[in-house]
Amino acid sequence: MFYDCAVIGGGPAGLTAAIYLARFHLKVIVHDDRRGRAVTIPMTRNHAGYPDGISGYELVERMRNQATGYGAEFCSAEVVSLEKSTDGFVVSSKSQVIEAKTVLLATGVINHRPPMPARMHDEALAKGLIRYCPVCDGFEVTDHAVGVIGTGEHGFREALFLRSYSADVSLISLDDHHNLLEDQTEALMRHGIKIVTGPVTGFTLQAEAITIEVPAGALCYSTIYPALGTEVRSGLARSLGADCTEEGCVEVDRHQRTTVSGLYAAGDVVPGLDQISHAMGQASVAATAIRNDLSAQNPILRF
Ligand SMILES: Cc1cc2nc3c(=O)[nH]c(=O)nc-3n(C[C@H](O)[C@H](O)[C@H](O)COP(=O)(O)OP(=O)(O)OC[C@H]3O[C@@H](n4cnc5c(N)ncnc54)[C@H](O)[C@@H]3O)c2cc1C
Repeated sequence: MFYDCAVIGGGPAGLTAAIYLARFHLKVIVHDDRRGRAVTIPMTRNHAGYPDGISGYELVERMRNQATGYGAEFCSAEVVSLEKSTDGFVVSSKSQVIEAKTVLLATGVINHRPPMPARMHDEALAKGLIRYCPVCDGFEVTDHAVGVIGTGEHGFREALFLRSYSADVSLISLDDHHNLLEDQTEALMRHGIKIVTGPVTGFTLQAEAITIEVPAGALCYSTIYPALGTEVRSGLARSLGADCTEEGCVEVDRHQRTTVSGLYAAGDVVPGLDQISHAMGQASVAATAIRNDLSAQNPILRF
């Protein structure tokens, strides 16, 4: 089957692009293995238009239904390889092989989790005892006791960011704080942020609190923010030789084109602010660029 565009990733970026592409009368298929970040959001309260909040799962379902309604097709499987062909790309998933003139990569990132059982992690996430995105939900922890798990530049920046929401912020290292520079330590202390040294040996959940075991004792927080970095899902782009940043994000121009002709990228997988609104904005730019680049080869796309 030959598609105008194969979208890889069915989160806010991929689904926004699918809606736009289908409404441009283009033949589009979305591949999704449902391991994204959006579907894990218990309740987003900073996404415009939903004053009472909306769960990530429901938002994604609504977008998926919208894309389906305009004729986008779906394949619920992981894409395992992406190759260039004479007319575009060969996209191989675990369940099928298709060809497409263009590909939009909207594969996102995966957060590194703190060392705890998966079931405990998911329960803590659902209860707001673990959060991953201070930009998204720092507001919800205003004046609460907050623990940031991490160290170095990343942990330092996250703890400082959260200090604007609460006077009770601790930076807790999983092992030790040897990556923390002297001026960072000094700045944390100046702003009243507690520096707690690991190793972290355990976690316990209560109804409205999470306890962390460290050599100093059992410390109790309303919420912990892991600041442990992410794995960028850019392997398919790298396999085609697309330029990526040191962190692994896919480099794009202002129309979301990668350095590989016909390959576009949007959302968390590209550098920039990791937010739903940003992913959607980039995807609408990418979809329009795909439409216009295809029409440069054949101006009337439909008949
Ligand atoms: C707990 C949490 C709370 C958050 N809260 C908010 C919030 O309140 N507001 C906000 O704006 N942002 C929030 N964010 C950030 C937001 O989730 C992301 O910025 C957004 O989901 C990015 O969209 P995306 O489409 O780029 O990636 P994702 O939502 O991660 O979707 C990527 C999709 O690609 C699929 N995929 C990846 N590789 C493949 C492959 N090879 N084959 C097939 N499918 C593949 C994945 O399974 C996934 O479905 C939060 C993040 C987390 C973790």
